[in-house]
Amino acid sequence: MKVKITPKREEKSLEDFMINRFGVELYRTFFRDYTEKVWGVPCSKISPDWGGQRIKGLSITKTVLHALKQIFADNKKSAKSGDIRQKDTETSLIGEFLYPKFGPGQLWETVASDIQKLGGEITMNAKVVRINREGDRVVSVAVDFGDRTEDIACDYFLSTMPVKELVNAMDCEANPVPAEVKRVADGLVYRDFMTVGLLLDKLLIKNPVKPGTPESKLKFVADNWIYVQENDVKLGRIQVFNNWSPYLVSDPEKVWIGLEYFANEGDEMWTMNDEDFIKFAISELDKIDVARPEDVRDSVMFRIKKAYPAYFGTYGEFDKVREYVDTVQNMFLMGRNGMHKYNNMDHSMLAAMEVVKCIREGSCDKTALWSVNSEEEYHEGKK
Ligand SMILES: Cc1cc2nc3c(=O)[nH]c(=O)nc-3n(C[C@H](O)[C@H](O)[C@H](O)COP(=O)(O)OP(=O)(O)OC[C@H]3O[C@@H](n4cnc5c(N)ncnc54)[C@H](O)[C@@H]3O)c2cc1C
Repeated sequence: MKVKITPKREEKSLEDFMINRFGVELYRTFFRDYTEKVWGVPCSKISPDWGGQRIKGLSITKTVLHALKQIFADNKKSAKSGDIRQKDTETSLIGEFLYPKFGPGQLWETVASDIQKLGGEITMNAKVVRINREGDRVVSVAVDFGDRTEDIACDYFLSTMPVKELVNAMDCEANPVPAEVKRVADGLVYRDFMTVGLLLDKLLIKNPVKPGTPESKLKFVADNWIYVQENDVKLGRIQVFNNWSPYLVSDPEKVWIGLEYFANEGDEMWTMNDEDFIKFAISELDKIDVARPEDVRDSVMFRIKKAYPAYFGTYGEFDKVREYVDTVQNMFLMGRNGMHKYNNMDHSMLAAMEVVKCIREGSCDKTALWSVNSEEEYHEGKK
């Protein structure tokens, strides 16, 4: 028997990163096309950092070992004693997690209400358009309320606005941003997101889960997400909202799904009108035999600008921006676009907690903040 040994590649791109962990065949089957739909560029042009942050320590060995462990595990026993934190499980393999009854927005509605109860004031639908500095401190921000712009004084400025916009809002005659920092900030790239929600009578795909398991009781498929690898459709992923929480769907006999598309603001998909785009999405679902157009009962669509900070463009020089913004003592960048980092909600919250720690301790050292979600194991592995 001949065994083909593929030498470990030097990890210069996301493609190298994935091939080293999963091999060429699995990379082509399960990663390449979806990832290229998400980013709109080949995986060979994307920094390996994204792999480090998105799929972390996952590899073919860990996936197989995890599957074997699941087969031999005593389900009843682990269900009773299982720790929901699942600290020993790779993030990508976690099969169970807590989820708010009415979706993640409920968490933030609760937080907002608690802040208001404690006397805090929250201003919605207002845009920070200028950041006014004196020396190395932010003294106020100009806020556009739609009908007027007002300067609001601040002790601290915590930013979740896209880094590109932040740097531009800092640039002014009295306090210009160095040209090199501005060049890097202006070259940061974002990917935009479009989603179509469809209410359907039925799905053509069935629940493949074996009888007797909790998932087998689900009326439709067992998945929350279905990744669409087919490269003859633009559709990237399908969400099955019934499975996130039954409270998200008023009629349990029907299924609400979300069709996810990735675009660039202003491109052909982005500029299609809603009605045409919904029709296009339904035709793609038909093409891949997931549902038929006659079973659609309702629809809705949303466009979300700058949903994903990209790991190409000037991303490789991001440290130049970071070094500059970190010199502003009372300004803290946090979150996903705020740090131009593929942070999930947990990382974004962790970053916010690090900021609060700095403020409470009177510290301006942002090292711990930037180390959130910076996949130490991956960087160590590279040495
Ligand atoms: C399609 C999709 C699916 C996802 N799924 C998951 C998931 O399953 N699990 C998970 O953990 N994470 C998921 N995420 C990631 C998660 O949404 C982010 O990690 C999280 O929302 C980041 O929090 P944030 O506060 O940095 O950013 P956001 O939640 O985007 O909040 C930033 C806020 O800043 C405001 N803002 C921006 N500019 C200005 C300005 N100039 N002035 C005033 N306000 C401004 C924005 O309006 C926004 O309200 C997903 C993201 C996407 C796009």
